[in-house]
Amino acid sequence: MDFLTFHHVSKQYRDGKKETASAVHDAHFSIQRGELIVFVGPSGCGKSTFLRMVAGLEEITSGEIILEDQRLNDVDVKMRDIAMVFQDYALYPHMSVEENLAFGLKNQKIPKQKIKQKIDEACAILNLSELRQRLPKQLSGGQRQRVALGRAIVKEPKAFLLDEPLSNLDAKLRVQTRKMIAQLHNQLQATMIYVTHDQTEAMTLADRIVVMNRGIIQQIDTPERIYLHPNNLFVAGFIGSPPMNLLHVRIKDDQSLAVGTFRFSIPRNYKESLQAFIGKEVILGVRPEDIQLEESSTAEEGMKPYLTEFLGSENLIYFKLREGELIVKKNLSLKMSPDMSYRLIINGENMHFFDPQSGEHLKRRSLT
Ligand code: ADP
Repeated sequence: MDFLTFHHVSKQYRDGKKETASAVHDAHFSIQRGELIVFVGPSGCGKSTFLRMVAGLEEITSGEIILEDQRLNDVDVKMRDIAMVFQDYALYPHMSVEENLAFGLKNQKIPKQKIKQKIDEACAILNLSELRQRLPKQLSGGQRQRVALGRAIVKEPKAFLLDEPLSNLDAKLRVQTRKMIAQLHNQLQATMIYVTHDQTEAMTLADRIVVMNRGIIQQIDTPERIYLHPNNLFVAGFIGSPPMNLLHVRIKDDQSLAVGTFRFSIPRNYKESLQAFIGKEVILGVRPEDIQLEESSTAEEGMKPYLTEFLGSENLIYFKLREGELIVKKNLSLKMSPDMSYRLIINGENMHFFDPQSGEHLKRRSLT
């Protein structure tokens, strides 16, 4: 049985008497028990609205949210058995770590001994045992977020909702806390819904990613499938760092296409879908790591990069083409020289083609 189902869920906020554009439009999918689902997309795409509807902090304009066999629409926030962790921790400043963890449980009239046991367990899992008597102001950002997670854990909720929980942490702590959330998920086998604008967080944490743009779900898939088989231009451009190169190219005939001064054969599996675009433009997508560079002896045959960036284990090499900028990612075995020209080699199986009007991935469309 599906654990949490969104049945044609939409949300429109009210601006005075007027309804605004959809913050969430016709979301229709299910989450399984124990999954870690990450909602990702740019600011304002509707991610938090999703969480807030599940938590009961926002009403649903239309559709239904079903948790196990219970319709959540009309269930009061307090009765939902769901725990939410916020970006700003939302701890009580005058209470110690221990009191913060105990607060919700005391309100539920849980016996003292049971409360102590739950707090002991949460502190052990989150490495908070040494900090139990401290006030929030005596904790670092990462420690505060661990307390906020602890407060969710002691509730033993049916689902955890995490709204940008790492945003207020510096880069190093973000990575540490991200690993801790992944371990926590494995250990508790809990259902978690996690919201972020950061595609690296989404890729590293998720069992499945929900990519959103302007209130509309663009793709729901495993990180691997999202990366290797993006449904459309938005997903292709949002996931990946640096993102997929997206170049407007003209399809001259059914055999080949030109990128800058280079010609490439049209991959066999795209021939059919590119037929309709002969004489027209499509968008070619290639990931930076899927482009090979070959040193060229003559400047006419090759291209000079206009910039290279050294990232430690790899270089980013930037070229300017008439179709747009092209970024190539290469490990350090490729010796770069500012005077050198390079030929581009792109393997057909690494090419993606998109309809420039609809943004849809062409191969996928031709196969359905
Ligand atoms: P995200 O979490 O992806 O940044 P939100 O879910 O917060 O996005 O917001 C989605 C859209 O709904 C945005 O356009 C935002 O301006 C709008 N919105 C959010 N909350 C309200 C509100 N209380 N009243 C009116 N509009 C809102």
